[in-house]
Amino acid sequence: MDVDAADVVQSVSTGRVPEAPQVDRILEAAHTRALRHREGRVADYIPVLAAADPEAFGVCVVGVDGVRHDIGDTRMRFSIQSISKAFVYALVVEQLGHERVLEVVGVNNTGLAFNSVIAIELNDGHPMNPMVNAGAIATTALMPGEDADAQWEAVRDGLSRFAGRPLELDDEVYRSESETNLRNRAIARLLQSYGRIDRDPEGVVDVYTRQCALSVDAGDLAVMAATLADGGVNPVTGQRVVSADVCRDTLAVLAANGLYEGSGEWLFEIGLPGKSGVAGGLVTIAPGKVGVGTYAPRLDDAGNSVRGQIATAYLSRALGLNIFASAPFASAPQRESSS
Ligand code: GLN
Repeated sequence: MDVDAADVVQSVSTGRVPEAPQVDRILEAAHTRALRHREGRVADYIPVLAAADPEAFGVCVVGVDGVRHDIGDTRMRFSIQSISKAFVYALVVEQLGHERVLEVVGVNNTGLAFNSVIAIELNDGHPMNPMVNAGAIATTALMPGEDADAQWEAVRDGLSRFAGRPLELDDEVYRSESETNLRNRAIARLLQSYGRIDRDPEGVVDVYTRQCALSVDAGDLAVMAATLADGGVNPVTGQRVVSADVCRDTLAVLAANGLYEGSGEWLFEIGLPGKSGVAGGLVTIAPGKVGVGTYAPRLDDAGNSVRGQIATAYLSRALGLNIFASAPFASAPQRESSS
């Protein structure tokens, strides 16, 4: 849809987060609140993930002004896993454009588990949702590059620009997942049979497996999220990573699909685009305001970090981040003072 540029009054959400000391206080309250929760289970279907410390917990908030707030284990490394899907999607939309990615991959929630094969069959081979494995594998296949190695370098370089530092592969996670990812390889073959992947499916799954094994901490996730909150400019490095339009598209996809079958509940409770990964990471984006990165490896049944969701829900409420929240215009402070 084309909109006349003269008609665009404002394209970012309104308001600001409170001053830094208040953000720190709220962050501590969010952490304390979520720390009490011990429900959920650490993922073990990728064998090496089972070794994670279930008590690890860190929350980091980075503003679009680049100011950073940390609490807990925000420097503890883990593999980015499915959170990579959001950022690879943004890079691919940047390269190929809104229409093409919409047509090939789609944007709708399948309502089925992240590794579902039946979702592909039910939709005549259309992966539908770029935030579950089938759609993410189809998205990675679209990444420009003459071969799998070139695609991998483009993925690693792009995600590093989002994070503002060179991200490295966790070899142990990569090997552990490569040895056990028969299901993802089956998904790629099935997509190929429907003509949805036109590269060697083994090479595509290898790039996908590597992108999931990139090593990050909650601070990296917060900077990556803040870049999507800041119209595509990394607020720490000042570098543009993707366009503002690509951010908007990516956030819409995250709002609908970021937490798998839990996406509706997440949007209801938190009211923000987010994306989770099975190693326990979670990113949340408050457009025009902040990015939030959390790490806590115990997951709910859909594969979303339990403590991460609780802490982020608290932050969303306390910092006034929910994009659906409004107050009557007549009650705004400037109206009261002028009356
Ligand atoms: N690499 C994981 C997989 O393909 C990512 C899944 C996830 O984080 N939910 O199964």
